[in-house]
Amino acid sequence: MTRVAVIGAGWAGLAAAVRLAAAGAAVTVYEMAPRLGGRARSLADDAGGRLDNGQHILIGAYSRTLALMQDVGADPARLLARGPLVLRRADGGGLALPPGSPVPAFVRAVAGARGWSWPDKLSLLKTATGWAARGFRCAPETTVAALCSGLSPRVRAELIDPLCVAALNTPADEASGAVMLRVLRDALFGGAGAADLLLPRRPLSELLPEPASAWLQAHGAELRCASRVGAIAPTERGWQVDGERYDAVVLAATAVESARLSSAVAPDWSAAAAALRYEPIVTVYLDAPGQSLPSAMTTLREGPEAPAQFAFDHGRLGGTPGRSAWVVSGARPWIERGLDACGAAVLAQASPLLPGARLHRSVADKRATFRCTPGLRRPPARVAARLWAAGDYVEGPYPATLEGAVRAGEAAAAQTLAEIGAAQRRGRA
Ligand SMILES: Cc1cc2nc3c(=O)[nH]c(=O)nc-3n(C[C@H](O)[C@H](O)[C@H](O)COP(=O)(O)OP(=O)(O)OC[C@H]3O[C@@H](n4cnc5c(N)ncnc54)[C@H](O)[C@@H]3O)c2cc1C
Repeated sequence: MTRVAVIGAGWAGLAAAVRLAAAGAAVTVYEMAPRLGGRARSLADDAGGRLDNGQHILIGAYSRTLALMQDVGADPARLLARGPLVLRRADGGGLALPPGSPVPAFVRAVAGARGWSWPDKLSLLKTATGWAARGFRCAPETTVAALCSGLSPRVRAELIDPLCVAALNTPADEASGAVMLRVLRDALFGGAGAADLLLPRRPLSELLPEPASAWLQAHGAELRCASRVGAIAPTERGWQVDGERYDAVVLAATAVESARLSSAVAPDWSAAAAALRYEPIVTVYLDAPGQSLPSAMTTLREGPEAPAQFAFDHGRLGGTPGRSAWVVSGARPWIERGLDACGAAVLAQASPLLPGARLHRSVADKRATFRCTPGLRRPPARVAARLWAAGDYVEGPYPATLEGAVRAGEAAAAQTLAEIGAAQRRGRA
């Protein structure tokens, strides 16, 4: 039986492990943390419940993530609140995509956008038509800001800036136009429902990490939590992981750890992984018993003293009533000012909507996503013979997302199986 080690059990490692085990490989998963899930996992809360490492949203175009959830017995229809894309501000302004085929829905949404003048709307329709005419492609060095130079300042501030920072976690002036166009293309042309918003109704660990863990154990995989891999070394027919022999390894640790583990065996790959830069995200959880936000997801006006771009009402999503998550993407300036200052500023930003709200907890992830800048060179999936990388940072069309991680994990599993299958056929020949 083919033995494969998967190092790291974020969503990429879990995707790889499930697909390898499903194909009959003997899989051992090493995870440094006490629990599976990586950046998209739930944390124990002082109040006895669970809080996520950060508020996450999915969209209908996350086809591989939704299929993986289904395959391990997690029902997306029960676990995610699905609805058309609505980017509404608390004052009722903003954009709401009606159900149905995404392109006509987009045109109707722009035409009906509340609070925008006709020149605002036409600037968006004209610019988006130009993107579509060019096949949603642009020169690699183009920033999102350059791509949007034809938009009115209002559309830029109220639509593109929050969308860009939500999808790429990088400010529009510095973000990759090519990656943004790919996200827009998949959302708008990925078929009916591709642009839908899917908001978690349950803690993130229930969406994939826990069902995947149960599924893997039922399929004979060995899960080693609190087990940080110290070193890997090649053998004549595979790899050693901390001295234990495997036919192949999927390196699904963070880019920083994967760079460390591969530095001696694949120095160029290791250098590319080590060169990535990161953007933080802060999620500020507030409690306002008896109160709720105008909708499950509210678009906010970000400003120098107003850090959050979006707020999520957990009560409306079936979670703790009165609890909301305020998301500060591209949070570098706020990390520099300190988490207390960020929490206080979010409380002030929230006070018109949730008077008297209390700070429950602020969660910061300093390496939430890689900085998705124009022309960024991401490390390829192949590290060395029988050593494949899986992670949201691996070369691919998407920014750092759950879908990017799952696709990278599935691709690494497929490449591993193909490589071992080819070697076995050669051995028999
Ligand atoms: C606050 C926040 C908000 C986000 N919001 C969204 C969102 O709304 N939508 C979206 O699609 N994406 C979002 N993301 C991004 C998404 O969470 C990531 O893209 C995804 O979780 C990455 O998964 P991964 O498996 O590639 O990496 P990771 O989750 O980082 O997994 C790597 C794993 O490897 C383990 N590891 C590291 N070194 C070792 C070692 N030596 N030995 C063993 N194990 C090791 C780590 O502990 C970790 O569990 C967000 C991320 C954050 C932090």
